[in-house]
Amino acid sequence: MEINGINVIVQRKKIKNMYLRVVPPEGTVKISAPYFIGDDKIIEFVNAKMDWILQKQAKIANTKYIPSLKYVNGEKHYLWAEEYTLQLIANNIKTAFVKENTLYLPVSKRSKMKNRQKTLEDFYRLELQKEIADIYDKCTAKVGRKPSEIKIRKMKNWGNCKQNGVITLNLNLAKKPKICLEYVLIHELCHLIEFNHSKKFKMLMDKNCPNWREIKKILNE
Ligand SMILES: [Zn+2]
Repeated sequence: MEINGINVIVQRKKIKNMYLRVVPPEGTVKISAPYFIGDDKIIEFVNAKMDWILQKQAKIANTKYIPSLKYVNGEKHYLWAEEYTLQLIANNIKTAFVKENTLYLPVSKRSKMKNRQKTLEDFYRLELQKEIADIYDKCTAKVGRKPSEIKIRKMKNWGNCKQNGVITLNLNLAKKPKICLEYVLIHELCHLIEFNHSKKFKMLMDKNCPNWREIKKILNE
């Protein structure tokens, strides 16, 4: 039904109370209502919550929804900021690889989505390890510090540095331009000198990675 210009989907259920949700990606209003409640009560309910509904819808409209990955043929995936089309292949080879615009993912025929995801993540990890090996000497020489260890994992932040010298880098950096990996590594190495984001730290960044502000923007796009 339409209430004050807003489309509302009403589902009747064996429940005692009314529930209202605003659902992405369209900001659709969904109501679960008991069988015994009349339409007039539903209209009243929606009108009473109108401000909240409009707020929710605005918030949803401002959020980019990344479609969830299914790891099927034809899906788009990224490596070092390049877009590739996923192609599943037989798993008689160990690791994934890219050729032209295709990312070949070796998986068994009966593989579940989780296994496919893991195979791709193993590939990203290898790619990152290769790239880190390539830039390691240059970056550590610039900053004048070496980490005790570099770990790679899926995490919220792009990088992390512990007091014991362990640097952790985000697996998803493999999807970004290579310069972003270099920037994050230098950032974390600088934390081996300055363990905060103080003025001194920013001066270190300016010295070791002069265009870091620009790269940071690219990374967070
Ligand atoms: Zn930091």
